[in-house]
Amino acid sequence: MVDADDTPLPPRNLATQRRALWLLVCAVAVILALESWQVWRNYQNAFASARSDVGNIALAAAQHADDAIKEADSLLVSIRDRLEDQPLDQLDRPRVHRLLARQAALLPQLHGLFIYDRDGGWRVTDKSSDPPRASNADREYFQFHRQHAADVLHVGTVIESRSTQELIIPVSRRLEDRDGRFAGVLLATIRLQYFVDYYERFKLDARGAITLAQDDGTLMVRRPYVPAHVGTPLASSELFRQYVTQAPNGTALVRAMIDGRERLYAFQHLEGYPLVALAGISRSDILASWRQDMLRSVTVVGLIIVGMLIFGFSLLREIRAGERSAAALRLAHDELHLLTLKDSLTGLGNRRQFDNLLPVELARAQRNAQSLSLLMIDIDHFKAYNDHYGHPAGDRCLQAVAGVVASAARRPGDLAARYGGEEMVLLLPNCDEIGAQRVAATVQERLQVLEVAHATSPFGRITVSLGIAVQPPGQSPPPQPADLLASADAALYRAKHLGRNRTHPPPETDALQDRSGLP
Ligand code: GH3
Ligand code: MG
Ligand code: MG
Repeated sequence: MVDADDTPLPPRNLATQRRALWLLVCAVAVILALESWQVWRNYQNAFASARSDVGNIALAAAQHADDAIKEADSLLVSIRDRLEDQPLDQLDRPRVHRLLARQAALLPQLHGLFIYDRDGGWRVTDKSSDPPRASNADREYFQFHRQHAADVLHVGTVIESRSTQELIIPVSRRLEDRDGRFAGVLLATIRLQYFVDYYERFKLDARGAITLAQDDGTLMVRRPYVPAHVGTPLASSELFRQYVTQAPNGTALVRAMIDGRERLYAFQHLEGYPLVALAGISRSDILASWRQDMLRSVTVVGLIIVGMLIFGFSLLREIRAGERSAAALRLAHDELHLLTLKDSLTGLGNRRQFDNLLPVELARAQRNAQSLSLLMIDIDHFKAYNDHYGHPAGDRCLQAVAGVVASAARRPGDLAARYGGEEMVLLLPNCDEIGAQRVAATVQERLQVLEVAHATSPFGRITVSLGIAVQPPGQSPPPQPADLLASADAALYRAKHLGRNRTHPPPETDALQDRSGLP
């Protein structure tokens, strides 16, 4: 019997769900990748722009120090030229004092101008009065010039002024007499405050630092300004050891020696003097705005992703629900279709299914050059059975016979159907007459085994008569469904006529008997 597969259908569009899920996962992954890349780029940019900021500040600080010293030096050179080679003890001290005072007023960075004799004694200054203990022979710059005959500008370490107690940077030149012997020192002092003020003007936050140091690492001035830091030796710091002493300029991310803070530093050596300017921005300041931007965009992207996931999963749920209801609908439809092809009492195929299938199988048999057998089966004396046992018992009997008929149709293409009343058919594709008689014999035998009592039948039990019609292969012209039916019906009529409880045409031996005219 042709039977529809009635196992529950799996959601046919599993691929759609999987595709939707993949799309969602890919979209989220792409957004995450783009966001991560953007965050990484912003991180790099934050450092790149900080590097250029500190580089510019270091350059400006170096230029500023260079200019301040150069201006002081050119003043020293011009004063020395004005003094000619006059012996210092013959100087017109009031006139030279006026000269120094006038010159000192020209440069804002200058703290003072001083002339010392060969013993360190204060000869002339721009100040109105000299300190009581007026000898500077102990100063480092004085000793330098006394020992070095070269005509060079000397930039000394930061010292406290003996005249004003201010912190100052001494820049000095050697004075010689006509014979080229050491005659004293010409000194210009630059106010440390001049640098402090300048460094304060840069837009740096509290953790930023600007430093001017000697090439040997001695700190001269630093923002934030702490007087106690002046003179701190930085030579052993990582910054000096690994970077400042290795190149004229550069940048480095290191921990500061003074306050232990991690900063991005830029350094720039002065062109003409053994000094170096440094500027640093703390790592946390560099990353502060980056972190803020990152948090903002991560929040936005997170919300977008959460939204996408909620939307995506509700869409998936809808797809799944749609698939489920479509599957249920298909199932219901298939079941309904099945019902329209089934006989409700016997469970066999109904007349409609048989009528549909007969021409199809006829054509297929013709096409494939195969036989097609049709068995028409009718219960003998059934009216009498009904009359004797009642209609409900008749129904049960009909069901029992249908079970036997169905059990004889074993091949997948076989169809057992109720043709009408107590008449049934077996449509057997690719089955010749011998095969059909074998199936008919099976029906008879199983019915005999079943032994359904029928008191008013001459056989004492339920029996059937069977008529066989066979369409042999390659018949021309091909028979019509009605021909095959009529032939099977005629054979059944013959079986009834010959006494019932038999098959017509009978198997070969019986056929011989039939032809001999025996009953
Ligand atoms: P024969 O041996 O010549 O076939 O005699 P018969 O009595 O079987 O033949 P007949 O065609 O005269 O009677 C058929 C009976 O089958 C008539 C009807 O009451 C009975 N029948 C048809 N369909 C059903 C059914 O669905 N249920 C029951 N209980 N009886 C049915
Ligand atoms: Mg009958
Ligand atoms: Mg009948």
